[in-house]
Amino acid sequence: MSDNKKAEKIVGVKGMNDILPADAPLWELFENTVQTVLKSYGFQQIRTPIVEPTALFARGLGEVTDIVEKEMYSFQDSMNGDALTLRPESTAGVVRAAIEHNLTYEGPKRLWYAGPMFRHEKPQRGRYRQFHQVGAEALGFSGPDIDAELIMMCQRLWDDLGLQDIRLELNSIGNADERNRHRADLIAYFEQHQDVLDAEAKRRLHTNPLRILDTKNPTMQQMVNGAPQLLNYLGDESRAHFEGVQKILRHNAIPFTINPRLVRGMDYYNRTVFEWVTDQLGAQGTVCAGGRYDSLVEIIGGKHTPACGFAMGIERLLELMKASGEQFAPNQCDVYIVHQGEAAQLQAFVVSERLRDAGLDVVLHCASANGGSSFKSQMKRADASGAAYAIIIGDDEVANGVAAVKALRQAEGESNQTTVPFEQVADYLVDQIVGGDDHDDSEHVHYHH
Ligand code: ATP
Ligand code: MG
Repeated sequence: MSDNKKAEKIVGVKGMNDILPADAPLWELFENTVQTVLKSYGFQQIRTPIVEPTALFARGLGEVTDIVEKEMYSFQDSMNGDALTLRPESTAGVVRAAIEHNLTYEGPKRLWYAGPMFRHEKPQRGRYRQFHQVGAEALGFSGPDIDAELIMMCQRLWDDLGLQDIRLELNSIGNADERNRHRADLIAYFEQHQDVLDAEAKRRLHTNPLRILDTKNPTMQQMVNGAPQLLNYLGDESRAHFEGVQKILRHNAIPFTINPRLVRGMDYYNRTVFEWVTDQLGAQGTVCAGGRYDSLVEIIGGKHTPACGFAMGIERLLELMKASGEQFAPNQCDVYIVHQGEAAQLQAFVVSERLRDAGLDVVLHCASANGGSSFKSQMKRADASGAAYAIIIGDDEVANGVAAVKALRQAEGESNQTTVPFEQVADYLVDQIVGGDDHDDSEHVHYHH
């Protein structure tokens, strides 16, 4: 190939992003925090496939939702003709798995997941074709308590991530009967205002009129504001449930506003719905959305199992974290090992393994395609790696049984180089880097922010 014409470059799929090493510390911090918080509420992780039968989403999400109507990556299995879809969300898959493996057989289950989702949307800020969600699904719980717990778990996550300015909007969309009575009045109301309905709204008028309330079209806002509100159609049980959620949130000082126009994109929701919203991300301001879905398990073929959950958009949350001004600059390693000569290279391997045994992150200089193994360019690499120390091994060091240890982040003028016998280098550096007596390797974190 290299003798001929250069091959044409292949670029990634539009709307599907590479997550590069520069962003890895941010992702790691987010993922670790999520894991810690969810675990602290007793949620257990579940990992389901990225590909599911198309029928799962068509049935679970509802035929007339945005996702099923136009956003799914669906294809036919070329071997057997099965209709398959890249998951656009994970609730349906988690519920399918819970039914398939009888997960709620012994009682309710708190589950969570994280991973990529796929929706064929117009790519823009905060909206991608492959994006990532973390979600929680509490299966088999019927009361307002779990709804409140899920919301409080989100609040704790925002706090632990140092995210402020995310506000909670809450609503209840009642049960099917209540929604049907509201729906009839809503259609009648919209019919009286045909002149302001846009094409999208007209299309939805008889299929999914609730979604018209969710419109982002400014010319329809005023009309929509005057529409009948579902909250006024709630019966005693739905109202009591909604009040139960609010009572727990108030008692725990979780601020919220009730947004009577808040509805969710998926058909399976009932009663409690909520969104966490920020003004800092432009049009794509919803970072997390969830609610109760008491009928989904039955729709997918299981026994009646009330449930509640949420999904958050990781990319949007990471953008918020970046906007918070904190630095997530990664250090590639703690120690960079520079060496010259064959004997030194062999010694460098031994030293690097000892340092790793001691819990340090070590980059050993290796021959690279573009040369650069002079002492000077190795030191440049050491510096760029963010390492706190360079270890330098040459013929002299091998002969004397010592490593030269150079502190790379010392203030100007301070002495920054010393020699340490090879057997003691690991202890010496652990002391220097992690701190003397009370160090704990497990808490030794290599990036700082
Ligand atoms: P939107 O109204 O923004 O399209 P949605 O109602 O389709 O959102 P959900 O299906 O509730 O979103 O997904 C939960 C969260 O996942 C959203 O609040 C958002 O943070 C994130 N999300 C949804 N779609 C995308 C996407 N295409 N790109 C990035 N994040 C997304
Ligand atoms: Mg959407």
